[in-house]
Amino acid sequence: MEFVVCIKQVPSSDKIDINPETGSLVRESTGAKTNPYDLSAIEACLQVREKVGGKIHAISMGPKQAKTALREALALSVDEVFLISDSCFAGSDVLTTSYTLAQAIKTIAKPDIIFCGKQSTDGDTCQVSPELAEFLGIPHALYVVEINDINDEYIVVTCDMGSYRETVKMNFPCLISVEKDSFIPRFSSLRNKIEAQKKPINTIELKDLEDKDKNNYGYCGSPTKVSKIYVPEIKRETTILDGETDEVVDKLFLKLDEWEVL
Ligand SMILES: Cc1cc2nc3c(=O)[nH]c(=O)nc-3n(C[C@H](O)[C@H](O)[C@H](O)COP(=O)(O)OP(=O)(O)OC[C@H]3O[C@@H](n4cnc5c(N)ncnc54)[C@H](O)[C@@H]3O)c2cc1C
Repeated sequence: MEFVVCIKQVPSSDKIDINPETGSLVRESTGAKTNPYDLSAIEACLQVREKVGGKIHAISMGPKQAKTALREALALSVDEVFLISDSCFAGSDVLTTSYTLAQAIKTIAKPDIIFCGKQSTDGDTCQVSPELAEFLGIPHALYVVEINDINDEYIVVTCDMGSYRETVKMNFPCLISVEKDSFIPRFSSLRNKIEAQKKPINTIELKDLEDKDKNNYGYCGSPTKVSKIYVPEIKRETTILDGETDEVVDKLFLKLDEWEVL
């Protein structure tokens, strides 16, 4: 069987600069790490490969720095990795990111299952996975917390929908996005980490895709326009209440009454 895992590199800190003109994150202003949900997606995929066998391709769309995330995937024994990178992909919104990933997957493989994380820890929309499945015209199950059954025809998964859980059976090809805590990522050995440094990272550019019209990618192809982006100002006023405990409790109740929170 053939699998694709989508992994995104995200900022390792929430202290990140924002370009005031474009509203985009200045990713170079902080360190980077692999999106934690995507490490769980890799883990889910490895568990499936252990059961049914097959080849895993990991893909990441991003700048050259995203190679580090792909090397991490190689160290976890993913078979082959692809960096999807081209200057005309810059500024992609969710729709265009999903479209580009779909185009790249068509170029790379004919996967039976595509694995995604439930969400990224920066953009955090949870929209890439379903949009990617829609672009590829395949069924999808989101918020997967358990893989109940798999064989060479179909997969059965349980999805946590918040107030209820549903069990879904899907024929291949299909896409699943996984919850972080349900597939705890394994550690890679030092030997695998060293080996991963020597393995090739394939690059996918616009010229490799079926749709070569650059107007469909990046800023040009993105219908979302960020009109304003800013860090909200947090206003806090501190009041220290002095006195014995009973006295302080009385003062506290008076304050709460005054603020109309009682
Ligand atoms: C107008 C606009 C401009 C933007 N410009 C930029 C920009 O210049 N630079 C920039 O970095 N971001 C930019 N973004 C943000 C970018 O659109 C999102 O980071 C991207 O669409 C992924 O969305 P998300 O993080 O919400 O993913 P989610 O939907 O939360 O992610 C779900 C899963 O999808 C997969 N996935 C998501 N993104 C990728 C990826 N890149 N590669 C592989 N798998 C992935 C992962 O498995 C992930 O766990 C822009 C957004 C908008 C609206």
